[in-house]
Amino acid sequence: MAGNAPVGVLALQGDFREHIAVLNSLGADAVAVRRPEELARVAGLVIPGGESSVMDKLSRMFGLAEPLKAAIASGLPVYGTCAGLIMLADTVLDSIDGQQSLGGFDIDVRRNAFGSQTDSFEVDLDIPVVGEAPMHAVFIRAPVVERVGDSVTVLAALDDGRVVSVEQGNLLGTSFHPEMTGDTRFHQYFLDRIAKA
Ligand code: GLN
Repeated sequence: MAGNAPVGVLALQGDFREHIAVLNSLGADAVAVRRPEELARVAGLVIPGGESSVMDKLSRMFGLAEPLKAAIASGLPVYGTCAGLIMLADTVLDSIDGQQSLGGFDIDVRRNAFGSQTDSFEVDLDIPVVGEAPMHAVFIRAPVVERVGDSVTVLAALDDGRVVSVEQGNLLGTSFHPEMTGDTRFHQYFLDRIAKA
């Protein structure tokens, strides 16, 4: 892929505008992806937060699910946040009836893992790959990674050990929402990975 190809953000549903704004602020040419032709042009793709069961339905309805699976398998750098991470997981626990994921990430992810009593919370996380200073992380009806395969690297965990950020080959994921805090280091990390891909 050409060095100056745009970075896509899957724009079927969820907070794709926030990701586009962060990527643009970092100097990337960020574009919304809703159609296979748009997917074919990007050097990397963010799958945003939102509602994974809806995103799943829309991606199949719009004929994007198969092109997305093929792009993931071909090595396109893809970063999933929250619902986006659920979309990338090989196994989704507590999915709704008929819910499918794109897969690719050798992980089990549990949806809404913090329960209805804790719909959202914020913590400071150590994420060594983005630098020494802790990153303020916002969790909203967030998933947790309950199993990681041998080829998966854990990038961040909560104090109790629950895994909330992972990477594996071309795939990157966070349970939380770096697009909401003004700390752009995670998006920069993704852009650096695209540049190296
Ligand atoms: N609970 C949502 C889901 O299952 C994810 C929430 C989010 O993306 N903030 O898809």
